[in-house]
Amino acid sequence: MRFHIITIFPEMFDSYLKESIIGRALKNKYISIKFYNPRDFIKAPKVNKNNYRPVDDRPYGGGPGMVMRAEPILKAIEKALANIRKSKKTKPKAKSRSELRSATGIILFSPSGKKFTTAYAKGAVKKYTDIILISGRYEGIDARVGKIIKNWKLEIENLSIGDYVLTGGELPAMVLIDCISRQIPGVLGKYESLEEERVSSSVVYTRPEVLKHKGKNYRVPKVLLSGNHKKIDEWKKKQKTG
Ligand code: SAM
Repeated sequence: MRFHIITIFPEMFDSYLKESIIGRALKNKYISIKFYNPRDFIKAPKVNKNNYRPVDDRPYGGGPGMVMRAEPILKAIEKALANIRKSKKTKPKAKSRSELRSATGIILFSPSGKKFTTAYAKGAVKKYTDIILISGRYEGIDARVGKIIKNWKLEIENLSIGDYVLTGGELPAMVLIDCISRQIPGVLGKYESLEEERVSSSVVYTRPEVLKHKGKNYRVPKVLLSGNHKKIDEWKKKQKTG
């Protein structure tokens, strides 16, 4: 799976993507990640007082905050699409044009979008070879970006990672990359260790069997020490349903 991230803050991803399972998935080439900074697609070196090439402007109709302009984002998407096309050319397996098109998903983040779920992540692994993630900032992205992508007949989805408003789409992009990557066979040590594939519970215990804390003993539930896997699974299911 190749992730193409459109963001004005690529450095935010540095430490998260380097570590642990995702770091290993990158190293072992189960996934790859490319960044496209909309600021790099502004032609005139128009630097504002903060030394930034401004990608935002005031909203039509008034209101607080700024809106991300369409043009630099569209140029960044076009660059990602060109890279995807290039990489497909080197893969003889690729068949028709429409097949190539359908193997690319474009995701626009928005707090009011469709809720991202593990089921979505599983579907994405089956459907896509490339995902373009567009991280908004400020008050969001000029709505014409979504319209233009639809005109290109590309699959686009507005996704939310939860019912709360964040300052930007970088954390949502990391959430998606993490959740989708762990669905790729081989990324986790054993595919079977995917939580969704077995009876799992968020109520878990490890050594010691009896934890002594401030004069009290805290014991591991007996059933987990019983070796009776049927009973253990029943116990775990119960924890899940409360
Ligand atoms: N008024 C805007 C709206 O309702 O869409 C809020 C924009 S928010 C401050 C800035 C950006 O953060 C959004 O464009 C989106 O990319 C991202 N974002 C914020 N909360 C999010 C969430 N819950 N899920 C996905 N993306 C989110």
